Amino acid sequence: MIEPAPPTFVRSALLGWYDQGHRDLPWRRDPQPWGVWVSEIMSQQTRVESVIPYWERFMARYPTPAALAASPLDDLLALWAGLGYYARARNLYKGAAQVVARHGGVIPDDPEAFRALAGVGRYTCGAVMSIAFGRPSAVVDGNVVRVLCRLDRLHEDPRAPKTQAALWARAQALVPEARPGDFNQALMELGARVCTPKSPTCLLCPLQAGCQGLAHGEVAQLPMKKKAAARKKATLVAALVRDGSGAIWLGRRPTEGLLGGLWELPMVEGGSPEALSALGLKATGERKTITHAFTHLEWTVHVYPAEGQPSGGAYTGLRAVAPSALADAGLTGPALKALRAWSVEGALKRRGAGR
Ligand code: SF4
Repeated sequence: MIEPAPPTFVRSALLGWYDQGHRDLPWRRDPQPWGVWVSEIMSQQTRVESVIPYWERFMARYPTPAALAASPLDDLLALWAGLGYYARARNLYKGAAQVVARHGGVIPDDPEAFRALAGVGRYTCGAVMSIAFGRPSAVVDGNVVRVLCRLDRLHEDPRAPKTQAALWARAQALVPEARPGDFNQALMELGARVCTPKSPTCLLCPLQAGCQGLAHGEVAQLPMKKKAAARKKATLVAALVRDGSGAIWLGRRPTEGLLGGLWELPMVEGGSPEALSALGLKATGERKTITHAFTHLEWTVHVYPAEGQPSGGAYTGLRAVAPSALADAGLTGPALKALRAWSVEGALKRRGAGR
């Protein structure tokens, strides 16, 4: 059996490659703990290019954990609209409050204390510790998994707990005492730019001399894939209903769970317009239909113009919002799509939709 590429080779090859040029990301220019933490949370499941404008707006509005903790959650959710995966925002909000309450507003440089904060998992802890505090803590994200599975020609399912443990151990063995943050960022960036899921550019890869997946012609098969579970499907009926001033009624979803704390057109599960009576509403015209895919779920939403004043449902709040204020209302992605389907003016302004 061929030995895995030695850490000394991987470190010098990767850092040399990183030093020749890497992406200029605003949080890398002066890597402070708060900015790095926010960037790592925003970058989960989201492309870095999409994150940059959100990160810049966020840091201008909330330059410290204390600034975030002192502002209403609704403001944060409105700023986050379009980035998706709102549980991340809610956890960051809780985490910021914990930094204020437990650490006087200063982010702790102790991995245990930092990891005890809301929303901070092993990955985020490793990233902030290495990038902002210079501690040799490993990171394993999707990019790192792909690079390591190919580099070491791992034939196991990378999601299996045993393989996860092996990947973290390998990443920890690789991360150097000197420049751990640069090394981790180089490893992740290699996965994002060179060792990509499809058509990796092995010819330009600094690790090619030590890559067992490449040597065995197995790059395309690695990492091993598991069949994705089919998405569940649900059909819903939503109401586009205005008050006397033309404002549009919205309901706020429960804080916990899917799209928690965000606002949407009042809606219920069901396929026919009569289902709206559960919200005290009556459909008054033809419907328009939108679909929206989440990770494990797909919605088909029939949106009817309706009359009445909504009540009931699982909403934690109901309010009518003027079309001009819709862009800052903290809407769900499906709500934005529904409003756009009906060409509601305020919803057409903003790019992107939450998940
Ligand atoms: Fe990935 Fe190819 Fe580099 Fe191996 S040589 S690490 S497969 S890009």
